[in-house]
Amino acid sequence: MKLPVSDSRSYAAFFRFRELGEHVVVTSLEGEWVVLRRDEFSAFANGKVEPGSDLDVRLQARNLVREHFDVRRAAETMARRRRFVHGGPNLHLVVVTLRCNETCVYCHASRADLDAVHTDMTPEIADATVDMILRTTSPHVTIEFQGGEPLVAFPIVERIVERAVEKNRSAGKQLEFTMVSNLALMDEDKLRWLLGHRVQICTSIDGAKSLHDKQRVLPMASSWDTATKWIARINAAYAEAGLDPTLYHVEALLTTTRETLSRWREVVDTYVELGCRALFLRPVDPFGFAEKTRRVVEYPRAEYLAFYRHALDYIIEKNRAGVEILERYAAIFLTKILTGDDPNFLDIRSPGGAGIGQLAYNFDGKVFSSDEGRMLAAAGDPTFLLGDVRSSSYREIVGHPTIRAMAIASNLDGQPDCIDCTYVPYCGTQPEHNHKTLGTMMGRMRESSMCAVHKGIQDILFEKLATADNETLEILRRWTTIRPREHFLQP
Ligand code: SF4
Repeated sequence: MKLPVSDSRSYAAFFRFRELGEHVVVTSLEGEWVVLRRDEFSAFANGKVEPGSDLDVRLQARNLVREHFDVRRAAETMARRRRFVHGGPNLHLVVVTLRCNETCVYCHASRADLDAVHTDMTPEIADATVDMILRTTSPHVTIEFQGGEPLVAFPIVERIVERAVEKNRSAGKQLEFTMVSNLALMDEDKLRWLLGHRVQICTSIDGAKSLHDKQRVLPMASSWDTATKWIARINAAYAEAGLDPTLYHVEALLTTTRETLSRWREVVDTYVELGCRALFLRPVDPFGFAEKTRRVVEYPRAEYLAFYRHALDYIIEKNRAGVEILERYAAIFLTKILTGDDPNFLDIRSPGGAGIGQLAYNFDGKVFSSDEGRMLAAAGDPTFLLGDVRSSSYREIVGHPTIRAMAIASNLDGQPDCIDCTYVPYCGTQPEHNHKTLGTMMGRMRESSMCAVHKGIQDILFEKLATADNETLEILRRWTTIRPREHFLQP
């Protein structure tokens, strides 16, 4: 059914709308929102709202009434949502080696076998990488070690951390380190060093042991046993150091493959049992080796969204039973929807974070817009290559024409489908994903699998905001609370 919106000029301020069952979601340019019944929406859109009625008061409170439109409030809200724009790259992904001891069915990281020592970063490149990172204009810097498996090239991790801390004495950034590791090569010495240098440790868990071991193959051993043994050990070490276990614990990353879709309950239970406080239900993405195994791991996004809905409901059920665990997609969108802030998640913001919010540094000194850009280059497509830490200046990297094109391509206000979309104030697109899946950085959102996921998740969340009971709404609100983990900041 087409809803009547013929004569909104007299009453409504600018709005977009989307029908959701018995309700209609209405958003403004700057991201104020309200969910209306259909009869309420009809009155709103046709200028038939009784002055002083409850509906009139609700709409005015959301700055959706033309006559009472508060321009300053709208401008301030918009500025608050976009305050990341002038910051500069804050996330710096460093691939210290391509070597990896595990073989994963969906491996994104363009891995190399353990004897490929030529894919280790050299000390010279490591030093130049640190120097480039600390030239960022961003006052916040997170250096994230990736691979391959970073523990394979641990001396390079140590060198980068020590040099960055030393150089930061004059640079004065708020500096943090994160390492994403499968933990199979962890030992007590490495752990002591990482804890002593306040390096946050993250790992990957794909669900229960049977699924995890099948998807993440560790020769002659169980990748699950090693990962979970070290998760418990690291969590115990945080507790021994007197850190609050609700804030300081190992977080894990899930990659949702076709086999995960029917196992949503098991996935949630596993994360709860491991003591994780967050679960990111990420769909498999099209980069790196995953392309070759697409037929095995991929699935239609409608099936993913059914999985997401089941898993989210179950996570909420767990919260209602007293377990505190959140879903990250929901937390990101709800923070934007409910607080008016932007959590600066680089893949879901407008303009997107590639190049202007993050950079990726390869073992060979090459600099890319993001890790996805690096993976595309490893597969033979250098579109997102920006320069080299040894020969390029910082200005050449961040002012690269590719970065400018990406900022324009990921500005949703210039996206033909997004400008009419109700969810545009909260959404984001990724030029690398568009380029890979649709052959153009701009993309065509109606054909984009990423758009389908973002739209579907926001539909589910707005449905909940419209119909959930108070206890569920309180849980969703709690997920928007950001509690900084200051221990990981370098002193
Ligand atoms: S990416 Fe899709 S869901 Fe997001 S604003 Fe654009 S059209 Fe809407």
